[in-house]
Amino acid sequence: LKKIGVYTSGGDAPGMNPAIRAAVRTALSQKVEVVGILNGYVGMIENRMITLQMRDMANIIQRGGTILKTGRSAEFMKPEYRATAANNLKAQGIDGLICIGGDGSFRGAQLLGAEHKIPIIGIPGTIDNDVYGTDDTIGFDTAVNTALQAIDKIRDTADSHDRIFIVEVMGRNSGWIASHVGLAGGAEEILTAENIISVDKIVENLKNSRARGKTSSIIITAEGQKPGRAYDLSDAIRKKSGLDAKVCILGHQQRGGTPSAHDRILASRLANAAVEALLAGRNNTMIGVQADKLVEIPLDLVTSKEKPGDKTLIHLARLLSI
Ligand code: ADP
Repeated sequence: LKKIGVYTSGGDAPGMNPAIRAAVRTALSQKVEVVGILNGYVGMIENRMITLQMRDMANIIQRGGTILKTGRSAEFMKPEYRATAANNLKAQGIDGLICIGGDGSFRGAQLLGAEHKIPIIGIPGTIDNDVYGTDDTIGFDTAVNTALQAIDKIRDTADSHDRIFIVEVMGRNSGWIASHVGLAGGAEEILTAENIISVDKIVENLKNSRARGKTSSIIITAEGQKPGRAYDLSDAIRKKSGLDAKVCILGHQQRGGTPSAHDRILASRLANAAVEALLAGRNNTMIGVQADKLVEIPLDLVTSKEKPGDKTLIHLARLLSI
């Protein structure tokens, strides 16, 4: 390979910049040119690409977001736009791609690769940690720590006022952020797709913990989960019990901020290995991490399977919040 393209796609995540840095520097040190594709598939279709040099990577390791910007493209779902993207890549002389994103981005990558014979290696970058085949994704650790800082502050006020707080964290359909933040933040209840609890049960648990002398409680909900968004849950608790549960929706702050040491190290390892794999002639795989070892998994497996949540953390959180 002579020239590769690197892009970030889908939801942004802290640690994408250290991943770009590692990919670019690994390739350039092997005399392979690198082009940065802007805004993911949007820039691929619109032919917005920039040449990346060693020094362009200076001072980005600590920056949140992605210097290449990211994007979502409905057009890329259609074969004719993928053909436009492939023509743009060929015109630039790009003969391999590194895709930093989540499973949606990998689905797009697979189609592009299959239809236009472009080798692609994926790197899991999403705060949601919902990518099959890897224990961890770039940005997850930082997002958990950001949410945790907010929850620690909420605990102070919950405790001072003897309040119940419902805190909604990100994670789309996955409960990874919720379970980690819940255990680390000392939550009493963690509501995720794998751990649906009825409002009756929540009220019963809250009353029991009050009877045991507990004066404040934190309930964590993952966004997009039943039994509902935080405000709906608060209303339901009030109607059932008269208990007043305050709501805090953490929102997009969880996507920003300086990447943690853990995410920088993960990003550097994954991106280095991804470029090595691409240059070694491999194709259509994702570099992930399992039991702290780097692994390479076919993209069709990654995109066809759901990663299950981790219920053991939820059970432990419940046990320890007694
Ligand atoms: P993530 O990569 O974080 O899961 P998305 O699901 O939003 O984010 O996917 C990012 C982009 O990948 C989409 O906007 C779209 O351009 C492309 N994409 C996702 N799914 C497909 C698909 N099935 N076919 C083609 N492109 C897809």
